[in-house]
Amino acid sequence: MTTAPIRIVIVGGGAAGWMTAAAFGRFLERGYAITLVESDEIGAIGVGEATIPQINLFNHALGIDEDAFLRATQGTFKLGIEFVDWLRPGHRYMHAFGAVGRDLGLAGFQHYWRRAHALGKASPLGAFALNEAAARAGKMRRGPAQTSKTLPDMPYAFHFDASLYARFLRRYAEARGVERIEGRIVDVALNSETGHVASLKLEGGDRTVEGDVFIDCSGFRGLLIEQTLNTGYEDWSRWLPCDRALAVPSASAADLTPYTRSTARAAGWQWRIPLQHRIGNGYVYCSDHLSDDQAAATLLANLDGAALADPRQIRFTAGKRRKMWNRNVVAVGLSSGFMEPLESTSIHLIQSAISRLLKLLPGRTMIDADIAEYNRQSDFEYERIRDFIILHYKANQRDDTAFWRERRDMPIPDTLAAKIELFAAGSHIFREHEELFTEVAWMQVMIGQGVIPVANHPLADQIAEGELLEYLGLIEALIAREAAAMPDHRAFIAAHCAAPSLA
Ligand SMILES: Cc1cc2nc3c(=O)[nH]c(=O)nc-3n(C[C@H](O)[C@H](O)[C@H](O)COP(=O)(O)OP(=O)(O)OC[C@H]3O[C@@H](n4cnc5c(N)ncnc54)[C@H](O)[C@@H]3O)c2cc1C
Repeated sequence: MTTAPIRIVIVGGGAAGWMTAAAFGRFLERGYAITLVESDEIGAIGVGEATIPQINLFNHALGIDEDAFLRATQGTFKLGIEFVDWLRPGHRYMHAFGAVGRDLGLAGFQHYWRRAHALGKASPLGAFALNEAAARAGKMRRGPAQTSKTLPDMPYAFHFDASLYARFLRRYAEARGVERIEGRIVDVALNSETGHVASLKLEGGDRTVEGDVFIDCSGFRGLLIEQTLNTGYEDWSRWLPCDRALAVPSASAADLTPYTRSTARAAGWQWRIPLQHRIGNGYVYCSDHLSDDQAAATLLANLDGAALADPRQIRFTAGKRRKMWNRNVVAVGLSSGFMEPLESTSIHLIQSAISRLLKLLPGRTMIDADIAEYNRQSDFEYERIRDFIILHYKANQRDDTAFWRERRDMPIPDTLAAKIELFAAGSHIFREHEELFTEVAWMQVMIGQGVIPVANHPLADQIAEGELLEYLGLIEALIAREAAAMPDHRAFIAAHCAAPSLA
């Protein structure tokens, strides 16, 4: 006896919708029928260009060829994020992916660095990060180090055009049986007994789409999760008050930097994301402190090349849905919540939602325990990322505007306050369970934002000063030599994955 397949309906064809469709098409070959509904008239948000290394897990799981993907999306490589003027004007640091220094025995590298720093003899932290050395030199390579077997891997992510990525994944998903329906959803019918979403009505005629499970990828509007189920939103703007962004592409610059740049501005920050054919730019700002005209003028005055369009405004409120899975609807992407793209986490949140959903995959019946666990894990992930982003604002020493002074003076979540105190007192950082950002990421942003510990692990005081400096000097020299030996980023792209326009 064959049973009818479980019908999964994905609402929305932005990056979230097509990533979900691609993964479901790949992993749910049997027992499920997958449909995606999107409206050409509404379109996708069309921003979202910087990622973190976890994207490789998603692409590898789908068996996507990296060079083909980069060619199709005008992609470039990303080794980290540079933060300019965040601590104070004129200061810069990097949150580079990958290792920083090398732990020695029980104590992490930061303990040794802090001791040398207290002696006034430490190079900046970035000198001990291979990713940062390569990024600053404009270099890129894949695979193991060429000049020393002792150097760590160089993890990387990508900059790409998220709309082209969605298109690329659409071809992938449709080839694996996902059915695409074009049309604007104008009404949603609920099952009168369960309150579950039963079907979607499309504009024009009497087209309806029925389903058992609905994945809401409809963007900020949250068509099912909010407009239909009134799930509620947890507002985080008391910590993250930026509520608007202006985005504008500009002509390419001569140097194709293998990193994202975030530059602090009077009431927020500006992103710079180099793709093969253009640079993506935007100003994320707080409308209580800055007018739209002022934001546009600042953005346009700070581009590397000519603007290729008028700035486009996007409005948002930092926070998350009270439940990301409610009844038979799971919100994925912007419909589940939003945190400003300071650490390029949104696309990652999509892929981790997909992976969580595949692990707790619903059948025709929703199980309360599964829903509760999904929501618990999602909340934890969101809240720890939120804390990491708040750290950049809280620990600033800028005195130029009320916006920055208010950020420094604002109360912060207890979870973040405890992390800062632990680091400031004794250089300790502990990654909490499966939180996204590692000790190394926290260390770089803490130190970059001027949280310099007053003490280190006693074991780091046990080695003689000469030995300590020799150990640090050796790591620095190996990293500098390896970075110098790498090919230039632009040349690397030309050799492996140039999009037709660059090739
Ligand atoms: C300013 C800004 C900068 C960002 N930068 C980054 C970044 O650098 N890195 C990163 O990882 N993320 C970034 N993001 C987030 C990223 O853009 C999104 O996570 C990603 O694009 C996914 O969006 P989405 O698919 O959830 O929503 P959308 O792209 O908005 O897609 C919504 C879909 O729903 C469909 N839809 C809506 N209503 C209906 C209806 N009634 N009927 C039929 N279809 C409907 C639309 O047609 C569309 O296909 C940024 C976001 C913003 C706002």
